[in-house]
Amino acid sequence: MQLTSPRLRAALLAAASLTLVAAVLPPPKALGIGDRLFPELGNPGYDVLSYDLSLTYKDNRSPLDAVTVIDARALEDLERVNLDFTHGTVASAEVNGEPARFESAGEDLVLTPAHPVVAHTPLRVVVRHTSDPRGRDDGGWVTTEDGLAMANQADAAHRVFPCNDHPADKAFFTFRITVPAGLTAVANGLPAARPVRRSGQPTTWTYRTLHPMATELAQVSVGSSAVPFGTGPHGLPLRDVVPAADRQRLEPWLKKTPAHIAWMEERVGRYPFENYGVLIARAKTGFELETQTLSLFESGLFTAGAYPEWYVESVMVHELAHQWFGDSVTPRTWSDLWLNEGHATWYEALYADGLGKYSLERRMREAYQRSDQWRAAGGPPAAPKPAPPGEKIGLFRPVVYDGSALILYALRQEIGADAFDRVERRWVAEHADSTAGTEDFVRLASREAGRDLEPFLKPWLYGATTPPMPGHPEWSAKAPKAAPAGPKAAVKEVPKKA
Ligand SMILES: [Zn+2]
Repeated sequence: MQLTSPRLRAALLAAASLTLVAAVLPPPKALGIGDRLFPELGNPGYDVLSYDLSLTYKDNRSPLDAVTVIDARALEDLERVNLDFTHGTVASAEVNGEPARFESAGEDLVLTPAHPVVAHTPLRVVVRHTSDPRGRDDGGWVTTEDGLAMANQADAAHRVFPCNDHPADKAFFTFRITVPAGLTAVANGLPAARPVRRSGQPTTWTYRTLHPMATELAQVSVGSSAVPFGTGPHGLPLRDVVPAADRQRLEPWLKKTPAHIAWMEERVGRYPFENYGVLIARAKTGFELETQTLSLFESGLFTAGAYPEWYVESVMVHELAHQWFGDSVTPRTWSDLWLNEGHATWYEALYADGLGKYSLERRMREAYQRSDQWRAAGGPPAAPKPAPPGEKIGLFRPVVYDGSALILYALRQEIGADAFDRVERRWVAEHADSTAGTEDFVRLASREAGRDLEPFLKPWLYGATTPPMPGHPEWSAKAPKAAPAGPKAAVKEVPKKA
């Protein structure tokens, strides 16, 4: 038989080479980039430059239809391309314009391209899939009373879309979200196109980030939302997303953001992104989350009346501080989480101190008293114990919050307020839009102090017990029986994680 159509011939040859490749390759397996706490997170061999996510939402009972387009660069020859992905059904996959075989291995989606990808060439992956928001409490989609929000930290972005799910690989994002008439979709970054509304028809909302972002910081909100706009310091666009029915009573809280940003800018320099705002969702998450440019809060924090105003404001400042510490400067590994949470807790505590409600020194003294217990339970700040199986946010223990803010307090005591101030400013300036780790911080602190601080900082970062606090020889880390309760002394219940 003679094939007469070149297209048919090409298709046959492609199918033949697929079979050939499959015949010689070992079975697919889940890969990772060697993160101590999440060994199978991220994938070797390529660097993602951008994600383009198209999501079509119907209701909270149905999986979303999705197309994920990944533009990357191969760092080595690749016979297979591993992505992190679970909780969705894959309909098809393409690599560089040709159909690719796809299989699951653990929480990886393993693609076998028709032709191996050559090192240092562009790699484009298209996956058509669903994204299932139903019945889950392991992160990713959060179902709200009126739609969805996203909470991907630390390892749950790949429960929403196929990706290289590690903060060490940041990329630009475009979101195209189609929702039924009457609902509003919002995502990180700025609107990229005006939504076209036709009565009764679904509407597509498009957003684009102007800065690279870690997958764990992606945010997509769908709901009956009001989206008030405003202006922050030096013209910074502000955009909040709140349940439309709650807009009026949330307005006084939304009005606080410009002053919070000005307060942070006085301490560490310019806000690092294109816009900012808070996303207040009618959901019970037990945490707030610093999704890039649009921090997620549960509405109860503001509306339940359970917390004093100073506490709520300090939590708002905590998430805002993360935009510099954690979002613009992303941890290189999850063991560097203390750099996120220690700094966010530091500015949260400093803000409360400024309001005259809870002094920084008292908070640090109380943290010091519990620090040995925290280290025993969670490991040292820069080498935390893995989360217990099935407890995905188990990594977020006191030792990475107040237990790590304590390291910053110790550093300031040791090198003085001026040098500490320089460390903070240079940290976010030098590593903006990038990733950095504990060693980078020790190096920078040493440079600003004019001496090697590794001998001082190492026991603080990696010690099983808490070193003596400079300037406070009277402080003891041996907790008394009835340990002081920290910020909990002032509020009934503190959200699990912020
Ligand atoms: Zn935090």
